[in-house]
Amino acid sequence: FHHGEASEVVVPTPNGPVHFGENHPLVVVAGPCSVENEEMIVETARRVKAAGAKFLRGGAYKPRTSPYAFQGHGESALGLLAAAREATGLGIITELMDAADLEKLAEVADIIQIGARNMQNFSLLKKVGAQNKPILLKRGMAATIEEWLMAAEYLLAAGNPNVILCERGIRTFDQQYSRNTLDLSVIPVLRSLTHLPIMIDPSHGTGKAEYVPSMAMAAIAAGTDSLMIEVHPNPAKALSDGPQSLTPERFDCLMQELSIIGKAM
Ligand code: PEP
Ligand code: MN
Repeated sequence: FHHGEASEVVVPTPNGPVHFGENHPLVVVAGPCSVENEEMIVETARRVKAAGAKFLRGGAYKPRTSPYAFQGHGESALGLLAAAREATGLGIITELMDAADLEKLAEVADIIQIGARNMQNFSLLKKVGAQNKPILLKRGMAATIEEWLMAAEYLLAAGNPNVILCERGIRTFDQQYSRNTLDLSVIPVLRSLTHLPIMIDPSHGTGKAEYVPSMAMAAIAAGTDSLMIEVHPNPAKALSDGPQSLTPERFDCLMQELSIIGKAM
């Protein structure tokens, strides 16, 4: 593991380079769980950009617990993300599940997301590490910090230094009130163990929109470099993760609250 200087991950986007790291302003990534149609993704992109987000997130390939749940629109959703990128200049973050989709996904993604369920898919990590787009590595839902950092090490060892670590909540024993336990204690722990930039995802971390703002603020207080927030124009109708998604209005309000306590955005 690395000690010493914090590193930065600089990601080129149509709107200019975005810097992730301890010595840079907070970066906010926002957007729906899944890309549902062109109108909703472009509209959401416009709204989150106006609120101050630098990246649009949205799943084309979705890792769903049930095989009967919406699986994402796949390749056609990549085209819709490209349209949103074109319309707003926002960088795009989207999840890769299968190495067979890497090439076409990398055409639209500015950062490739490896989801919690694939954190230890070592053959996938080796392939993603061998290409040069920056990578967002989410913590596995029951992964230790050692396991998570070793997964990151696979990416670094394969030749890609541009890795961001995302805490998204770990398996909790009390799923009645929150979907996961958002482990904010990783922020100081990671700071002491690694130079890699840190992202916190309070949306998957809590599973409930009403808890997202306070956890976002807590993450900033603890020193996170970036946040991932799920935003949907109509959460009640979302095809995935509606209960944890903020409306664009609520997101805009949160961004104003964060700018008061946060590292300048
Ligand atoms: C997501 O970001 O929509 C997602 C599926 O996240 P995770 O891998 O953390 O569950
Ligand atoms: Mn989601």
